[in-house]
Amino acid sequence: MKLRKFVSITGTIHCESGLRIGGTKEGIIEPGGSENTILRHPITSLPYIPGSSLKGKMRSLLETDASSGANIDNGRPCGCGTCLVCKVFGSHGMAHKEITRILVRDCVITDKSETVLRTAQEEKGVNFAEIKSENIIDRKSGIAAKGGLRTQERVPSGTEFSMNITLKLFDGDNEGQIVDFVRKGLDLIQKDYLGSSGSRGYGKIKIENLEVNDLA
Ligand SMILES: [Zn+2]
Repeated sequence: MKLRKFVSITGTIHCESGLRIGGTKEGIIEPGGSENTILRHPITSLPYIPGSSLKGKMRSLLETDASSGANIDNGRPCGCGTCLVCKVFGSHGMAHKEITRILVRDCVITDKSETVLRTAQEEKGVNFAEIKSENIIDRKSGIAAKGGLRTQERVPSGTEFSMNITLKLFDGDNEGQIVDFVRKGLDLIQKDYLGSSGSRGYGKIKIENLEVNDLA
């Protein structure tokens, strides 16, 4: 199979609500909350969205979409090797290997958002994240359960990240179909959510300035 071209899909991810992508497992209650930090770059300490999070979310949403032809009846990612999900994201498992056509880079914070958050850090002591407190309500008493208060860090709403996706297209690939499929994945995330706690309002994003260009 011959590689024909690279196509780039870029845009700005605008957080319309707080966004939480953290290292700890969702659902673990850690009173005090210091463990519930968001993911930060080890050197700059700036929050970022790992490419794997964006890619994984797109894949799982597209797999459940009726148009994809993916088979997830066994509860695992599709490994058929022939559907659009396998074609774009690579087939899961060893039986039918398909080349992964999508590369999703880590999404770094935009210069504009970095400036805003640095100012907030200086003026308010905000460490590039807001601390969100949540109560777990005892179902019988109707009041906060013992140890039920938990705090979570979130990237504040309004923060923006640069999105950078590359598609590798091979001879015989239907470029329009593959690009449209990725655009559909991005559209589904905007209807759904990114990161964790989407059912509680986290992770609502809007993708702005979407551009599709051939890479020279
Ligand atoms: Zn498949």
